[in-house]
Order: sequence, then C-alpha cells, then structure tokens
Amino acid sequence: MDFQFTDEQKILRETIIRFSRKELSYDIRQHEKEGSFPWEAWRKCAEMHLMALPFAEKYGGCGFDLVTTVHAIMAFGYACKDAGLVHAIATQILCGLQMSLFGSESLKETYLPVICSGEKVFAQAITEPGSGSDALAMRTRGEKRNGRYVLDGTKIFISNGPMADAVIVFAVTDPEKRTLGGISCFVVEKETAGFERCKPFEKMGLSTLQNGELVFAGCEIPPARMLGREGQGAIIFNESMEWERTLLPAAHLGTLERILETCIDHARERTAFGRQIGSFQSISHKIADMKVQLELGKMMLWKSACLKDQQKRATLEASICKLFISESLKQACLDAVQIHGGYGYMAECELERDLRDSIAATIYSGTSEIQRNIIGRFIGL
Ligand SMILES: Cc1cc2nc3c(=O)[nH]c(=O)nc-3n(C[C@H](O)[C@H](O)[C@H](O)COP(=O)(O)OP(=O)(O)OC[C@H]3O[C@@H](n4cnc5c(N)ncnc54)[C@H](O)[C@@H]3O)c2cc1C
Repeated sequence: MDFQFTDEQKILRETIIRFSRKELSYDIRQHEKEGSFPWEAWRKCAEMHLMALPFAEKYGGCGFDLVTTVHAIMAFGYACKDAGLVHAIATQILCGLQMSLFGSESLKETYLPVICSGEKVFAQAITEPGSGSDALAMRTRGEKRNGRYVLDGTKIFISNGPMADAVIVFAVTDPEKRTLGGISCFVVEKETAGFERCKPFEKMGLSTLQNGELVFAGCEIPPARMLGREGQGAIIFNESMEWERTLLPAAHLGTLERILETCIDHARERTAFGRQIGSFQSISHKIADMKVQLELGKMMLWKSACLKDQQKRATLEASICKLFISESLKQACLDAVQIHGGYGYMAECELERDLRDSIAATIYSGTSEIQRNIIGRFIGL
C-alpha cells in the first residue's frame, strides 16, 4: 500500500483546479434560470481532455489508470462549482468505459475518439418509468427480426439524454431468460428512425444537467451496434456499476472537500458573542465530522479504484463508496448551510445549490437503500 501520489498525479490535480477556477467561472445561476447547458464550458473541458482521462492513447485518450482518473475527477468536483456539468462529463466518461470494456474494435474506433474529444455527447439508458431500483426488470424490447434488432420502449431520467448524439441502451432480447442472458446492450445514434429525445425535466438541483425521457419506437439496430455479446447486458450492467459507483463519488468527495474549506474559513471569520463561531463546539464538531468523512471517503475510493485497476471485482467496495460519500456529502451540505446561518440560506452563498445538488447523489446510480441491500447481501444477510 502506498498512500502517496506521484508528482504527475499532483500536477494533474493542480492543473485541473487552476483550469476550473479560471475557465469555468460562468454564471451558473443564469444557466439555472434558463435551464440551459453550458456548452462553452463543455468544449473547454474537452480541450482539457477531461473526457479522455482513462482511455487508451490510440483512441485519443490520456491513458490514465482509474486511481489517477479518480484523483482528477475529485479535483474537478472540488474546483468546478457546476455539479450539473461535472455529472454530464462523468456520464460521458462512464459511457466511454462501457465502450472500452465491452465494445468491439470497430465500435471503439468509431466512438471512443469522439467521446474523448467531446465532439459527440453520450448517455446511458437503463431506468424506465416502471423500473429504477429493480433495473433489470426493464421492459424495453430488443427483438431480433430479419437479422436486425428492433427496439421498442421508453427510458426515463437519462442524464445527457435530451442532447445525446448516441445512447447506450439496455433492452430485453430474450424475455424467457431476462437477467440470465436475456438482456443486451446497444448503441443507438440520434438519427435512428423511431428514436425520440424528449425535453429535459425541471429538477430540484443539478440544473444545468440535461436529463430526460427517451422513446424508442421500432428503432432498427444492426448487430454490429451491440455492445458485448447478445445476452451480456446484465454482466455489462454489474461491471459498469462498479466503475460508476467509484467515479461519481470521486466528484462528490471533491465537492465535500470544497464545502469543508468554505466552512473552516467561515468559522474562523464569523464572530458571535465576541468569539469566532468555530470556537463553539457545536460548530467545530460539525466541521470535524466533515474532515473525517473526507479522509475515510478517500481511503475507500482509492481501494475501489485500485481493485478495478487490478481487474478485480469491487462490488462491495464501490457500493460502500457510493453510500458513504453521497450520504456524507448530503449531511455536509446541510451542516454547511446551518454553519453559515441566514447567509447560508441565500442563493448568493451558493451552499443551498450544493445542498440541492447533493440530494441526487443519494438517488442515481442506485439509491442509498439499494447500496445497503448490496452491502447486506455481502455480509450474508
Ligand atoms: C439526477 C438523476 C440522474 C439520473 N441519471 C440516470 C441515467 O443517466 N441513466 C439511467 O438509466 N438512470 C438515471 N437515473 C435514474 C436513477 O438511476 C433512478 O432514479 C434510481 O435508480 C431509482 O429508481 P426509481 O427512481 O425508479 O426509484 P424506485 O426504484 O421506484 O424507488 C423508490 C424508493 O423505494 C426504495 N426501494 C426500491 N426498492 C427497494 C428495495 N429492494 N429495498 C429498499 N428500498 C427500496 C428506493 O431506495 C427509493 O427510496 C437518474 C436519476 C437522477 C435523479
């Protein structure tokens, strides 16, 4: 075990922080009001190779391992205050990882370069109106007809969905087998006849993230656009969740670190009853808890990322990461608002936005309840 980062990793972190502070200082509240996506910021992040971090250089990637990628994403979540943009970029990377792990050479050559360059926006579609936590109970059909697959169904709450150029879609190809080889995974391009991207939903937080419903009505997909083999969908889903539940928490932990620093500064500067508020135990203990959560979160993240770098299973570790870090972030945001008093409640302070954004982290990529179920199963309950 080595808890030291290399010089390259340290420089990467500093570069991402400097870049985010300088180039991503746009008015998030204006975008929130308009519900618009910050395209210029997306392009700048692409130029910074943020979407290319873990991919092989021959496809336009940076070739970093997952530990380095997680380190970089944590820096991005720390320095970029627009959690909607961070989530959009993480989604793009996650789609690339699915492509990289399960795509044919031809799919990789076609899609990985445009994922890395940000030229095409990707989304992944699993959730349906009738199935979220019970994801593999999906009803979207991928029926084989005349040598092609015909997709019919509706996906919901899909991040990047309304603006996606291509979507990785999970569908039932064999209703008899379902999770035992009956689900498959397809790449659907936006031009495909019968494919409709609906308007983005209005949300509680992550306002710049475009999240919406996707409809597939008789979409014909050639077999070459299948990710992995027919029936491999549940395996792709389970593997992807391990990567996803490591990468997304990395961004959340970065945000938690920023909130911790904001609270420390405020607790030092703000006085009440002739003392710094940080000298009141009720304030300092809240901040001490944030520090504990940050440090423990890091340990769990590095472990999960290390396991994936070693091509090992990390189902339990990734679930612990997802549960612990998302719940810690939500609590830290609540405490941060309280520590900032009346100002914490004002939009100008920006902590209320972090709080609204943080709630989603306990829902997407498997709710906290589902993570606890997984952890419970691992300990034999
Ligand atoms: C911001 C955001 C972005 C998202 N992005 C994507 C995306 O890009 N792609 C995608 O496919 N999906 C996406 N989702 C969907 C997300 O993955 C689902 O919302 C989530 O898995 C929960 O499913 P559900 O909404 O159907 O809730 P339900 O499954 O209906 O759950 C409702 C409640 O019941 C609880 N529950 C359900 N089953 C159990 C159980 N067995 N034990 C204990 N409690 C249980 C849940 O924890 C929850 O509290 C996104 C969601 C959000 C909010």
